[in-house]
Amino acid sequence: MEKKKVLIVGGGNAGLSVAAQLLRKNKSLDVQVIEPSDKHYYQPAWTLVGAGIFDIRKTVRNEADVIPAGVKWIRDAITEFEPEHNRVKGKSGESYTYDVMVVAPGIQLDWQKVKGLRENLGKNQVSSNYSFDHATYTWDMIKNFTGGVAVFTNPSTPIKCGGAPHKIMYLACDYWRKKGILDKCEVHYISGGSVLFGVKEYLATLQKVVEKNNIHLHLGANAVEVDGINHILYYEEKSADGQPVRKDIHFDILHAVPPQSAPDFIKNSPLADPKNPHGYVEVDKFTLQHTRYANIFSLGDSSNAPCSKTGAAIRKQAPVVVENIISFFNQQKLEKEYHGYSACPIPTQYGKLMLAEFDYSNKPTMTFPFDQAKPRWTMWMLKKYILPWLYWNKILKGTA
Ligand SMILES: Cc1cc2nc3c(=O)[nH]c(=O)nc-3n(C[C@H](O)[C@H](O)[C@H](O)COP(=O)(O)OP(=O)(O)OC[C@H]3O[C@@H](n4cnc5c(N)ncnc54)[C@H](O)[C@@H]3O)c2cc1C
Repeated sequence: MEKKKVLIVGGGNAGLSVAAQLLRKNKSLDVQVIEPSDKHYYQPAWTLVGAGIFDIRKTVRNEADVIPAGVKWIRDAITEFEPEHNRVKGKSGESYTYDVMVVAPGIQLDWQKVKGLRENLGKNQVSSNYSFDHATYTWDMIKNFTGGVAVFTNPSTPIKCGGAPHKIMYLACDYWRKKGILDKCEVHYISGGSVLFGVKEYLATLQKVVEKNNIHLHLGANAVEVDGINHILYYEEKSADGQPVRKDIHFDILHAVPPQSAPDFIKNSPLADPKNPHGYVEVDKFTLQHTRYANIFSLGDSSNAPCSKTGAAIRKQAPVVVENIISFFNQQKLEKEYHGYSACPIPTQYGKLMLAEFDYSNKPTMTFPFDQAKPRWTMWMLKKYILPWLYWNKILKGTA
């Protein structure tokens, strides 16, 4: 009998988690991953790289070394979907067919939507932990800062790891306090979001951190342009009658996070959710099956499941996708459900971290038998040592 073929688009956190777990459940499947990059990144540690406490080289491995045993890696980039024919096209000109497809090519960083941002990254005191190439420059800026205006931005679009734009700000403030210069620093958070954090139990903790560090919050304010030479950030706020008002702020250092959306080849495909302004893959938010193409599933940053986009979310999504694919092949009802679990480990200072866990209802879903809204040293150790180990040794191998 011919093997059933599962084609996975994207060999990142989500794609490899599903590939490894699928083969553990059913060795008779033909599992293939299409991934253009020869490098695989552990992105959650980039915040720690920017804070000077994690070696950037430990956040990257060769893709060939992390592809799960038994999985075939096709080095190509998908450019087009033909779901009516169970076929996709690659940049190489090749076409690939499948019985079931899993779509997991991550999220696109739209640097160009903030004029001048990409051009200034890594120079003129402008950085971003969202770039492997520049996270170390963030640390250079923080370490060498002697006082002045420090600006941190967060876009209005959904992003991967909603906490990352402010995590680095709390660590920077703590570093400057310990260096004895915090009273010479004027710290601004310019965020397109309407709140600092969406879950009120965790928000209360962060508000105290903001107060303690005397951070100036600008909510509903969207960065639009960086003038690196003159150290000016332009941003837009809405006036009382809803009109955009352009403002500017001088910075001595700037940590910027770009707007994000589904990769263009997803946005422009029949798989995209036509109602989603960011073009994510349209799935049932519980089964993660495509709402129009029954043999397509999607998870991770590229799906329109209305959860917070994190690796932690993928840990709960991957087993759901795997079980439901197996049920699909067995022509059974898809019974496994994902309920929006996500986690955001937010360091509030060096050595202390609040592990915010929540679900679709934005209610805390705490794993540990203590109040996780309280920042703790144990949770810091989890983020710094245990989670990276778990990622490389268990999650990518399909055993956690
Ligand atoms: C600074 C930062 C801090 C973060 N902190 C945390 C944290 O503390 N906790 C947490 O849980 N998460 C965190 N995250 C988020 C986490 O890294 C992502 O949610 C996770 O990596 C998403 O996995 P994914 O597989 O959907 O996408 P990715 O891991 O980005 O993988 C997508 C893959 O698809 C490939 N691809 C792209 N285009 C194509 C194509 N055309 N064809 C085929 N393949 C393609 C890419 O090369 C890539 O390998 C953080 C992210 C950042 C940037």
